[in-house]
Amino acid sequence: MWEIQILSLPHILKHCKKCGKKMAFACSEQFRINAQRKYLDIWLIYKCLNCNETWNATIFSRIYPQSLNAKLLEKFEKNDKVLVEQYAMDNGFLRRNGVGVELPLYSVIGDSFSPDETVELEIKSKYLLPIKVSSLIRDTLHISQKKYSQLIIDGKIKSIPNQDLQKCKLKNGITLIFNE
Ligand SMILES: [Zn+2]
Repeated sequence: MWEIQILSLPHILKHCKKCGKKMAFACSEQFRINAQRKYLDIWLIYKCLNCNETWNATIFSRIYPQSLNAKLLEKFEKNDKVLVEQYAMDNGFLRRNGVGVELPLYSVIGDSFSPDETVELEIKSKYLLPIKVSSLIRDTLHISQKKYSQLIIDGKIKSIPNQDLQKCKLKNGITLIFNE
């Protein structure tokens, strides 16, 4: 089994007002909470890698504080790492905020093997990751694009469920069978 380990939170891409063009922003790993009258706003803060300009990704907008579980609110106040990661790894959340998302840096934990061996390989990811399965396999097993394509054409790599192994993304995981 291979497990994908995230090494850094993904950068987001958006127009930076100060830089005057589209830039990469890094997650500051901090939430910002604003309590106004009876409403609460919560954001996750990002910073432009070039000029430090901040941008806030909206988590909650004008909600009643009572509608949030007290423990959850405390996690936002303490910039809880797990909660930060949960939002920063949530592409749907970031896209709803109107920004592009880059792939995070990651490493693959697990044993390498020869692509000629008979192996059933389960690849797992805690988060939905849009990593191409083809690049993941080629990079980890050190095989060329040509060799990889040939293995697919020859039916030597299959997936459960059956997917297009040239194009499909990992998401939460996949099971591959080599040389069945
Ligand atoms: Zn900037």
